[in-house]
Formats: sequence, C-alpha cells, structure tokens
Amino acid sequence: MTLDLKALVRTIPDYPKKGILFRDITTLIEHPEGFKESVERIAAAHRGQNITHVAGIEARGFIFGAGVAIALGVGFVPIRKKGKLPGETIGQNYALEYGVDTIEIHADVLSAGDNVLLVDDLIATGGTAIAAVGLLRRTGATINKAAFVIDLPDLGGADKLRAEAVDIHELISFE
Ligand code: IMP
Repeated sequence: MTLDLKALVRTIPDYPKKGILFRDITTLIEHPEGFKESVERIAAAHRGQNITHVAGIEARGFIFGAGVAIALGVGFVPIRKKGKLPGETIGQNYALEYGVDTIEIHADVLSAGDNVLLVDDLIATGGTAIAAVGLLRRTGATINKAAFVIDLPDLGGADKLRAEAVDIHELISFE
C-alpha cells in the first residue's frame, strides 16, 4: 500500500470544454496495482461498520463501487441515469451547470435497516452525490458514509455532503 495513486491520474485540459481540467481515472484503472489498491483502500476504511450495500453512481462509480462491494462481501446498487432501469424506479432531479439531470434506483432495492456506502470516482460541487444520498435515503435506508477516489476540495462538494451528515473518505485530492 505504498503506491502514489495521484500520480496515476491523468489530467486533460479543456475537456469536456475549455477551461476545465479533467481528472481522468482511466489511467489509474489501467494500472493493475493502482486499481486494486484504490478499491482495497476504500474497502479497508469501511470494514467492520455493518455496511450492507455499496451504491455506485453511473458510470465511473460502477467501476470502483463494484470492486468495493466484492471486497466487503456485500451487494451492489446501481444508481442510474433516467430510463435505464427495467423495474419500477424512484428518481431524483439535480441541477447541472446548464439544465437538470435525473438519477434513479429500483424502488424495491433498499429498505429501513440497510446501511449503504455511496461510491463515486470524483466529488466536485457535490450536486451528484447530494442527489444520490437524498434518493437513497427515501428508501428508509441509512446512508452516512461516502467514498470518492478524487476530491476537488476547492469546489466545496465534500463540505456540503458533510453538512448532510455524511462522513467522507477520499483517496486523492487535487487542490
Ligand atoms: P459534482 O456533481 O459537481 O460533484 O460532479 C461530480 C460528478 O461529475 C461525478 O459523477 C464525476 O464522475 C463527474 N466529474 C466531474 N468532474 C470530473 C473530472 O474532472 N473527472 C472525472 N469525473 C468528473
């Protein structure tokens, strides 16, 4: 557990638009030890805490979240973009820079007594993660832990999520 995970993240300027420094995790997951250690470190921080499910946010949250679920020996809940899940769903709108997006989960996937760890690749403004926590909590489940491979603390998302009574674990931070 000595890898410099931050060095494995590639930064691509002006993607998806000019002025944005995109933190690209594909270089981290192409690296066998880097990918394994990312998943293991998130799992290690949450062992023995009675986590019953890992919920991952489409799409990059699936990559890490699925690994963490296997490592913890619990099930995986996909939080999907609107219209992708086949069963009855509940959804949550959230604001994008321009417009609105919707995330959904199956209506029957969680219930009171479940204790969910939310996983995504990156937290920036926190809008996506806060919408996910709100959606998951509507099932009656407990969601008070979230893990991100990357935090962009200057954008304030992690602080906003803490204000929603969620403990945050992040592996890498880009100031
Ligand atoms: P937020 O809602 O502003 O916190 O943005 C977080 C969401 O946008 C996550 O689901 C990320 O996958 C995605 N995202 C935002 N910026 C980046 C980036 O630089 N690299 C990878 N994903 C990003």
